[in-house]
Amino acid sequence: MDKALQDLLAAATAGGTPAEIAGLPLPESMRAAVVRSSEATMFEGMASRDKDPRKSLHVDEVAIPPLGPNECLIAPMASALNFNTVWTSIFEPLSTFVFLKRFAKESDLGRRHDLDHHIVGSDAAGVVVRVGAGVTRWKAGDRVTVHCNYVDLEGPEGHDDSMMDARQRIWGFETNFGGMAELALVKANQLMPMPTHLTWEEAASLSLTLATSYRMLVSPNAGSMKQGDVVLIWGATGGLGGFAVQLVTNGGGIPVCVVSSPEKAELLRSLGVERIIDRADEDYRFWADGEQQPAEWRRLGKRIRELTGGEDPDLVFEHPGRQTIGASVFVTKRGGTIVTCASTSGYLHEYDNRYLWMNLKRIVGSHFANYKEAWEANRLVNLGMIHPILTRTYPLDQVAEAAYAIHTNQHTGKLGVLVNADQEGLGVADAAKRERFAGPLSAWKHLT
Ligand code: NAP
Repeated sequence: MDKALQDLLAAATAGGTPAEIAGLPLPESMRAAVVRSSEATMFEGMASRDKDPRKSLHVDEVAIPPLGPNECLIAPMASALNFNTVWTSIFEPLSTFVFLKRFAKESDLGRRHDLDHHIVGSDAAGVVVRVGAGVTRWKAGDRVTVHCNYVDLEGPEGHDDSMMDARQRIWGFETNFGGMAELALVKANQLMPMPTHLTWEEAASLSLTLATSYRMLVSPNAGSMKQGDVVLIWGATGGLGGFAVQLVTNGGGIPVCVVSSPEKAELLRSLGVERIIDRADEDYRFWADGEQQPAEWRRLGKRIRELTGGEDPDLVFEHPGRQTIGASVFVTKRGGTIVTCASTSGYLHEYDNRYLWMNLKRIVGSHFANYKEAWEANRLVNLGMIHPILTRTYPLDQVAEAAYAIHTNQHTGKLGVLVNADQEGLGVADAAKRERFAGPLSAWKHLT
């Protein structure tokens, strides 16, 4: 590791004063996980499943981004994989360099992001090492996690809900300088206090999927779940689903969890979940010969009623998209809500609209979370009411392997990445508090 970075990290993690940390020089360059613009067409003409992130994701030596007003430079000790890094690395649905070029047209500060490399990563936990002009709430040495909602709020649209800002972006996906780098550039209003009982990699594995699930289920901006609601959760041991299960249970809801293997079903059982559907074992085929199969929707609906004593879902937690949306719309209770935040299996959705309008159901679009929602979700973690679902942590050099595991659905829960931390298990500020949550903190570890 570069000597300047070493000194900076030593001061920032071992109680250096803000002035001491800010007085230390930055390194000349840094290591970062990137895709390269020169390779943006490398997978053209290939099927999605054949596009291999191990060919397109690299760890390169790149320049340190210049700090602007209301921004902070942080040293991520750890980051985490999200599905958006898979999308970036397979250049789907479009190359993320298009987002960076669009950003460059907006402002001088936006122009910094338009480079020949895109630093990925939309989650991080680490320490602040520099604060820009106008930053008053954070200082060098603060231990932070980062949420990925990147907004200026210059226009009026986002002032009720910052996700409505016309220039809202996802950091590390629609912006450059994401979390998988020795130094990362964030807006001050992306920072949150790091939960005191967690390691760097656990803290880094939370925000993107936890806050998305929080908004989808809990927030009045989307699901507004209430006690007793039956909630169908697709991918219940995935990055979103693992938090959805906890949020539904905490809120007095009744999760009905769909997974695709006996191991995943067993994990859920060990966490106290009772209503589980193994979609692989029960062999649901919602599409056959290019057509939706309503008989399969009915079979799923019947199975849900068996598990719930005859009830249909008040809420469906949707993200697989094309493969499942027809079934999701069908099985939802009269007057119920399908909340969707993604289309992993395809964007062009088909469902039978008669089941929607005649039964007064709603499909609600949801996207990440505003600062308040992300903060509330982070607070639940700090209170020990929500726990990380980290199963495996990779060194930065192996980030492409981690992306490949997600692309091929070989993972469970979240996959972490060590950036400046040289080993797992570091960063815990309150060991006694950690001890109190030892059980749930070990439940998901090393499953993949
Ligand atoms: P993940 O960790 O891969 O988990 C998704 C789970 O969905 C998988 O583990 C799989 O579980 C299930 N699944 C996948 N394909 C399926 C299919 N065809 N039918 C039924 N189930 C299927 O990913 P994630 O982090 O939860 O993210 C899921 C999606 O949401 C991605 O497309 C991601 O880009 C998107 N997302 C959007 C936002 C947003 O703000 N809009 C935020 C986070 C994520 P089983 O195989 O066990 O069933």
